[in-house]
Amino acid sequence: MKNIRESLAVVRDQILGACQKAGRPGEAVRLIAVTKKVDAERVREAAEFGIREFGENYVQEAQGKREALGPGGTWHMIGHVQTNKAKYIPRLFDYVHSVDRWDLIEVLERHGKELSLLFEVNLSGEPQKHGVSKEGLRSMLERIGDLRYVKPVGLMTVPPLSTDPEEARPFFTALRELLREVNREFGLDMRELSMGMSADFPVAIEEGATMIRIGTAIFGERL
Ligand SMILES: *Cc1c(COP(=O)(O)O)cnc(C)c1O
Repeated sequence: MKNIRESLAVVRDQILGACQKAGRPGEAVRLIAVTKKVDAERVREAAEFGIREFGENYVQEAQGKREALGPGGTWHMIGHVQTNKAKYIPRLFDYVHSVDRWDLIEVLERHGKELSLLFEVNLSGEPQKHGVSKEGLRSMLERIGDLRYVKPVGLMTVPPLSTDPEEARPFFTALRELLREVNREFGLDMRELSMGMSADFPVAIEEGATMIRIGTAIFGERL
């Protein structure tokens, strides 16, 4: 098993290196530790080494871990949300990175709890991939201003799988450009770019990521 303290030190070093290279301050990037399939004990260990932000793909797993860790920490839902699970989200999470359809937003709004939303954009057009098209994003942003509890804060993307992180770069650049465009078109002030995973986060940081979602590089391979 991976030594969490050592792997965190390496990841933090790489974050700072990428920030330096890009001329960005180290605090500009939030490290979200992705805890899917990681047991509560190891998540607690990461918390001991200073992790404050946690990313989960599954509602049920998040519930158990939040209880085990106690209060505090910021929880990010990063996985696809099934409509029948959406009602559990507002109580368990602070951010949802995987917003991809209007009916999900309506369910989240109904709970009367403030929730920060990032829209997952499928920039590659791969049919098997979650996320909304640019047109679909725009049609949601047209209506989002009418809602009171959910707040649009940014965009998220997962580039096509590749062994070369440079192949992800154009997708990260495109997400940054898209954020700027839609902010201007809809008079919004979204700031967050959730992009970059274990294999490609330094490149994502160079392209402006404000949140990186890291699992394997902290906890080791998932079984
Ligand atoms: C699992 C997952 C991650 C973390 O992936 P690693 O390669 O283990 O860092 C990030 N984002 C999403 C959406 C995920 O599902």
